[in-house]
Amino acid sequence: MAQAFVSTCVVLPDGIHSAAVLEDEGIIRAVCAPSEIPAGYAVHDFGTLALLPGLIDSHVHINEPGRTEWEGFRTATRAAAAGGITTLVDMPLNCLPETTNVAALEAKRSAAYSKCLVDWAAWGGVAGDNAADVAPLAAAGVRGYKCFLIYPGCEGFQMVSLQQLEAALPHVATTGLPLLVHAELEEPIAAATAMLNETSNDWRRYATYLASRPDEAELSAIRILLALCRRYRFRLHIVHLATAQAVPMLRQARAEGLPVTVETCPHYLHFAAEEIPDASTLHKCAPPIRSRANREQLWEAVREGVIDLVATDHSPCPPAMKKFEEGRFDLAWGGIASLAVALPVVWTGLSARGFGLTEIARLMSAGPAHLAGLEARKGAIAAGRDCDLVVFDPDAEFHVSANDLHSRHALSPYVSEMLRGRVMATYLRGEKICDLTQGHASFASDLQGRAI
Ligand SMILES: [Zn+2]
Repeated sequence: MAQAFVSTCVVLPDGIHSAAVLEDEGIIRAVCAPSEIPAGYAVHDFGTLALLPGLIDSHVHINEPGRTEWEGFRTATRAAAAGGITTLVDMPLNCLPETTNVAALEAKRSAAYSKCLVDWAAWGGVAGDNAADVAPLAAAGVRGYKCFLIYPGCEGFQMVSLQQLEAALPHVATTGLPLLVHAELEEPIAAATAMLNETSNDWRRYATYLASRPDEAELSAIRILLALCRRYRFRLHIVHLATAQAVPMLRQARAEGLPVTVETCPHYLHFAAEEIPDASTLHKCAPPIRSRANREQLWEAVREGVIDLVATDHSPCPPAMKKFEEGRFDLAWGGIASLAVALPVVWTGLSARGFGLTEIARLMSAGPAHLAGLEARKGAIAAGRDCDLVVFDPDAEFHVSANDLHSRHALSPYVSEMLRGRVMATYLRGEKICDLTQGHASFASDLQGRAI
């Protein structure tokens, strides 16, 4: 039966309106005034709760097949549904095999089949010498590519040398798909680490870890990438920007007309190095969470629009890999789990700085939809798109508990943080996939998520 989703606060591409979203067979057919709902619709009136477009997380490590004990399609898509995220785009590494050729992509699709509560798509890898796999991966349906200019922290997925990258770039440019780059160079990190090991060498201190991955590692990588972008004219996307010092050159690149987009993550916008306790390896990620002043400059870049989107870089691991007993940042796995709480984390920061809910829609739905080429079906509440919706209470406040996470391991530095905004329900193509109105998440038993 056709449905009408009604609220006084529907977040549409042109602003917030009192409206009814008309759905039939999973697609938004029209958006109209609540008084104009045609006969025959089942009406769901959410009152003053906000209706947001389903969020898209363009940076997730699902790790299946191969490392399902770290995360997996079942658990990642469940956490996503609880967090108002209706589409995940999976990174090509940490799974086995890594998604660097078509056979591996097919293996991933088989592994995901019938396990997903939300939709998902895949990034392919540009890794080592696989330039010949770039075009076939595009034909097989990847939304773009990921590469590393530094060792990715895990055996199997190869970083690219400058030479290997230049061999791949003409192929990438031909596909028209974006290349997502982990922009850190090894040399400044190796130099800083060597110096630290000569002097203090206390790897339980967060300050030691931060000093080991200086801003210059990001800056030097971004300089090289912008030069390559100027030369090969491929769509360059900087993932997880952590240093605000890169903002001026990114602004300049945009002004010059280079096809560059930029992402940051909830943890860089929420935490600050000064507040991270020593030995708290839950806060380890790469690049590292930097200073409070740097965080505020990242917020300015959000305000200015230099940062196009926020993605989680959700990258969990089994508890043992966090090395809680040693508490050493050099030994612990880096990666922060945040799928289920990313929306309230970002909203807490946005609302405190005077932004409205339209900014959530830009950063966490429209922005990633554009990056992944999903605008025809996702990324906005608009006629013709999938009816993916989040019912959101922007004023509710809560302390995050481990029970709120829903990923395979209930480990996250957000546990016990006070956040603003709560997901009340999530809809995928008009079907309610998660209900949180009773204070806990109840999930649909029917797994309707698709590979897209
Ligand atoms: Zn990542």
